[in-house]
Amino acid sequence: MADIIQLLPDHVANQIAAGEVVQRPASVVKELLENAIDAKATTIKLVIKDAGKTLVQVIDNGMGMSTTDARLSFERHATSKIRAAEDLFKLHTKGFRGEALASIAAIAHVELKTKTEDLEIGTEISIEGSEVTSQEAVVVTTGTTISVKNLFYNIPARRNFLKSNSVETRHIIDEFHRVALAHPQIEFIMLNNGAPVFNLPSSNIRQRIVNIFGAKTNEKLVPVSEETDIVKVDGFVVKPQFAKKSRGEQFFFVNDRYIKSHYLHHAILSAFDGLIKEGAHPGYFLFLEVDTKSIDINIHPTKTEIKFDDEHSIYAMLRATVKHSLGQFSIAPVLDFKKDSDLDTPYEYDKKSPVAPTIEVDRNFNPFERETKFSGSKFSIQQDNPSKGYVSRQANSATNTSWEAMYVGLKNEESQLDVASIEFESEELTGSFFEAESNAPSDITFQLQNKYIISPIKSGLMVIHQNLAHQRVLYESLLKNITVKEAISQQLLFPLQLQFSTLDIELIKNIQEQLEHTGFGFSVFGKEEVEISGIPVSVKESEIKNVLEQLISDIKNELPEAGFSQNDLLVKSLAKSLAVKTGTALTLEEQEHLIHQLFACKEPTISPTNKPVLMTLDVSDLDKKFK
Ligand code: ADP
Ligand code: MG
Repeated sequence: MADIIQLLPDHVANQIAAGEVVQRPASVVKELLENAIDAKATTIKLVIKDAGKTLVQVIDNGMGMSTTDARLSFERHATSKIRAAEDLFKLHTKGFRGEALASIAAIAHVELKTKTEDLEIGTEISIEGSEVTSQEAVVVTTGTTISVKNLFYNIPARRNFLKSNSVETRHIIDEFHRVALAHPQIEFIMLNNGAPVFNLPSSNIRQRIVNIFGAKTNEKLVPVSEETDIVKVDGFVVKPQFAKKSRGEQFFFVNDRYIKSHYLHHAILSAFDGLIKEGAHPGYFLFLEVDTKSIDINIHPTKTEIKFDDEHSIYAMLRATVKHSLGQFSIAPVLDFKKDSDLDTPYEYDKKSPVAPTIEVDRNFNPFERETKFSGSKFSIQQDNPSKGYVSRQANSATNTSWEAMYVGLKNEESQLDVASIEFESEELTGSFFEAESNAPSDITFQLQNKYIISPIKSGLMVIHQNLAHQRVLYESLLKNITVKEAISQQLLFPLQLQFSTLDIELIKNIQEQLEHTGFGFSVFGKEEVEISGIPVSVKESEIKNVLEQLISDIKNELPEAGFSQNDLLVKSLAKSLAVKTGTALTLEEQEHLIHQLFACKEPTISPTNKPVLMTLDVSDLDKKFK
């Protein structure tokens, strides 16, 4: 047989290598930012367009390159950072593999402009798919500007694989955060589609965290600091009461390099054990310094995983240090185990004397006297809170199945009318409790533990989970609204100003249009603030912040791999936030209306998150119990 093995041409080898190094625009951002840091830049500017799909540009004022170096920098295994294999264990630079630029140039249109301090004239090189298309002398300031355009232009499959702009932008911002946090002394600027997103002046680490995550972060931080023979730890953990539902701010840096480590993450989790609710995620910004000889960075092409010589000791030390810090700042119940873990008393409460909580009990309540009691209690609820939000019986007619009706605030006259009709209805219902003839749930319902609505049906009885049922109702109607774009918005007399981190503001901006279709109105977007001028009719003004926070958290938690449909996610999140909660007492009309709405849904039996909404219990099942 003839020889068949051939050496791959360089551009093919580079493309293959690129597959490992460059997964998405954010990978380019990371490599270019790291090169600028290695070049000792003091100011670094990142410019992206269309989530980096059209342009990723990094401008630095670092040491620049000579003409020869500029040309060589795009060769594979071309690096100024190591000379021999031993150097891998004395690394003080971010890069060392010499493959980032070669990889990027293989799969994009790249322009490089660079000049060193000692030269008058700089160099400009253009490369497309590993081919140099032009090289010229140019007048530029000292430093380097690299523009990466049309990423994956020659690999359509990779390009198609990229996620939506909002997801890719989020990845970019994540990388930007990691690099900016690791180097607070460097000034970083980021522009997204021409608009400034971050402007981070040279500062210390605490200021950097605050500049990135918002002014309110400052009071949430607890310093951590410890030094042993093998590791020095500095940084902050976030007070337990601010632990988030989403895995937000969790950062490990080792020798100024962001790394991922499940093992060390676990050390922090165990330090927080008992201080945060199950499912909540502690926040941390921890900077470890170790001897470069004691770690191996060269185990993963993206250099985010590293191997420690003595991982167990680092684990133990981290856990103890974080525990100690939480204790020292009176956050953890170190000595007094009876104390509440949430010890932070807001200042304004300092001087007030405590008031004993009161519990209100309806001593006359008798569950077996349902008809009269129900009408009585309904009456008072309606009176106390005439605009509570559920529709009147009139609105609850079969012809009105629009979801807004469920929440439309009642006018006073209407609620008066309503009260009258309720009294009448419940009287009427009295005799018919065991006579339900239809297959659908009858009009007669009662609530079990403020959680389930029980209703007799022809074959037995039906148990409906009130929260999941309402989620289904809201989900279908919001989805309709978002698609047909006809939500009703209530305009706020005084626009609501809400603070978010810059990243969260970006996220909201990305889904602004969809949110507007559900009834939100936005008047102003600031750097860390958003002004809301209109809200969906179904939402109370006081709930807006929570609803948006939940939404942001859900978007962040959404795995990009999971076949992302933004509308669906958004609507699920809103439905979850807005649905009537377990534990809420519902009047008879509210129960009935919910059932009515539920059975007007396309899929009444499962919740938007695929949980069963209801179950039935047949009389024959009951019969078996009585044998
Ligand atoms: P590595 O960073 O692993 O050395 P790269 O492919 O990222 O490999 O870069 C190759 C070389 O190009 C670097 O070693 C460095 O000498 C040079 N270089 C890249 N970017 C810059 C920059 N922004 N400023 C100065 N030199 C740079
Ligand atoms: Mg590099």
